Amino acid sequence: MKVGILQVGQVTPEVLVGIQEGLAKTFPDTTIVVTKDVMPVPEDAFDKKRGQYNSNNILSCIKAYSSKKPEFHRILGVADVDIFTSGLNYVFGEAYVSGGAALISLWRLKPLFYKEKPNLALFLLRAQKEAIHELSHTLGVGHCPRSMCVMHFSNSIFDADRKQSLLCDECYLQTAIAINTLG
Ligand SMILES: [Zn+2]
Ligand SMILES: [Zn+2]
Repeated sequence: MKVGILQVGQVTPEVLVGIQEGLAKTFPDTTIVVTKDVMPVPEDAFDKKRGQYNSNNILSCIKAYSSKKPEFHRILGVADVDIFTSGLNYVFGEAYVSGGAALISLWRLKPLFYKEKPNLALFLLRAQKEAIHELSHTLGVGHCPRSMCVMHFSNSIFDADRKQSLLCDECYLQTAIAINTLG
C-alpha cells in the first residue's frame, strides 16, 4: 500500500514528518510519503455562523485530489483549522470508510488549545493517533469497543489521550487483510 500525506493549508513540516513516522511504524510493508503538493483549505468549506470548516467539504476535495494521483492507494489530508461535521460540535478527523481519502485536523490536538503549555511530543503523539485512526477507517475498520485501541471513538481530547497509538490485535488483523488485497 502506498499512502500520500497531503498538506491542507498551513501546516508545520515537522508535524507531517511525525505523522509519516507514526504511520510507517503502525503499517509495516507500506510506503508513506509526504507529497510535495499543498492543497489550499477550500474557502467554501468555511461556515461563517460557526466559525469552523465543514469536514465533508474538505474531505471531498482530498478525494478529488486522490483521484488524480492513482499511484497512491490512500490520501491523508492534514489541516490546521477547526473542523465540524453535521451533528457534532467538532471532529478530530473524518474518513471515507473503505475509501481513498481521509482528513485529520490538528487544531484541537495542540495543548495550547486547552490552555496548557506547549508540548511537541504530546502534540505529535495525538496527531499520530488520529492519523492511524482515520487511515484505518479507509481500510474498512470501524470503531472498536476496546478503550485502549486507537480505533476507539474519541469524543474528547481526554479519550484521545487515554487510548494508545496502537491497533488492538483484531483491528490490526483487519488492516493487514485490507492492505494485503491492495498489494
Ligand atoms: Zn473514527
Ligand atoms: Zn481495536
